[in-house]
Amino acid sequence: MTSDTVHHTPVDAIVVGGGVAGLSAAVALGRSRRSVVVVDAGDPRNAPAAHSHNYLTRDGESPLELVRLGRDEARHYGAHIIDGTARSATRTESGFEISLADGSVVQGRRLLVTTGLTDVLPDIPGLAERWGRDVLHCPYCHGWEVRDRAIGIVGSAMAQHQAQMWRQLTEHVTVFAHTAPEFTDEELQRLAARGIDVVDEEIAGVEVDNDAIVGVTLSDGRQVRLDALVVGPSFTSRADILVSLGLGTTEMVLDDHVLGTYIEADPVGATAVPGVWVAGNVAAPMDTVVAAAAAGVKAGAAINGDLIEEDVRAAVERAKSTAP
Ligand SMILES: Cc1cc2nc3c(=O)[nH]c(=O)nc-3n(C[C@H](O)[C@H](O)[C@H](O)COP(=O)(O)OP(=O)(O)OC[C@H]3O[C@@H](n4cnc5c(N)ncnc54)[C@H](O)[C@@H]3O)c2cc1C
Repeated sequence: MTSDTVHHTPVDAIVVGGGVAGLSAAVALGRSRRSVVVVDAGDPRNAPAAHSHNYLTRDGESPLELVRLGRDEARHYGAHIIDGTARSATRTESGFEISLADGSVVQGRRLLVTTGLTDVLPDIPGLAERWGRDVLHCPYCHGWEVRDRAIGIVGSAMAQHQAQMWRQLTEHVTVFAHTAPEFTDEELQRLAARGIDVVDEEIAGVEVDNDAIVGVTLSDGRQVRLDALVVGPSFTSRADILVSLGLGTTEMVLDDHVLGTYIEADPVGATAVPGVWVAGNVAAPMDTVVAAAAAGVKAGAAINGDLIEEDVRAAVERAKSTAP
């Protein structure tokens, strides 16, 4: 993908992260005639998957093609897109300065961070290589594609919930306790009632043949045939750039288990730090593509509204100072 040269900064808004959230915000801002720079490292979370689902009119599109199309749309409305990694952010008199890994800097009046998250996967030999292909996590993203197939759920704090979700798509669901906390009697009853097998053993490795998962080997040597594995990754927000601005992450907790981290914000993405917005998975780990894109549009519109207020205040001051 090509990178643009930015001649005039400060721009109205700097967007760090050019996935669907960041690019949707850039379109909303560009269409409002705001100058925008998007800094993007080019590594969207869903890149390992060949197809993206549940985004109306774009069902089955490749994640990288979605981003390429999004960049074209953002550029059409004047956004500049820089291929690079933002390393740090500092506050300036008029807004923010972002330093990139290549030593360059970009200045802007407002900052939107849409850097997404990192999925920390269970440490099982052979598993990471299959991530996004037949190691899955989201039934709405890839469940239909493995309907009626044999699915194994890797034990985690999410396992009971995931097992019931994937059971909606296939009758062949097995939960492997792996290293997860033990199921309660009530959970075991709920699993058994839906015909979900529970294997109280650790998974030692993932078996692959002909570029497809064929099963798992357990720590006692047994092998179980499977077509896909479901994991409950830890969702770690990619929010390092916000630390220097005083914004830390919050833990996402379910039933006393920490599922990941995120940056807290109001419904349109405004954070506790004036002038700084967040959108997409960095703020909402459960957001799918369409939800992250919507969050980007909302944040872009909110930033435009905030800039309008500042522009009005400045115009009133100017008018007062020139009044006879
Ligand atoms: C394997 C997999 C498959 C999925 N499939 C689907 C699906 O089929 N349908 C669906 O709706 N959802 C799917 N999802 C969820 C989807 O990936 C997210 O909803 C979506 O990517 C969130 O968009 P985002 O813009 O918030 O973050 P991302 O898409 O992750 O984009 C963040 C961008 O910020 C960049 N970035 C990060 N740090 C920096 C930095 N310091 N400087 C500059 N740039 C930076 C990254 O390189 C990246 O380009 C899937 C997720 C996974 C893991």
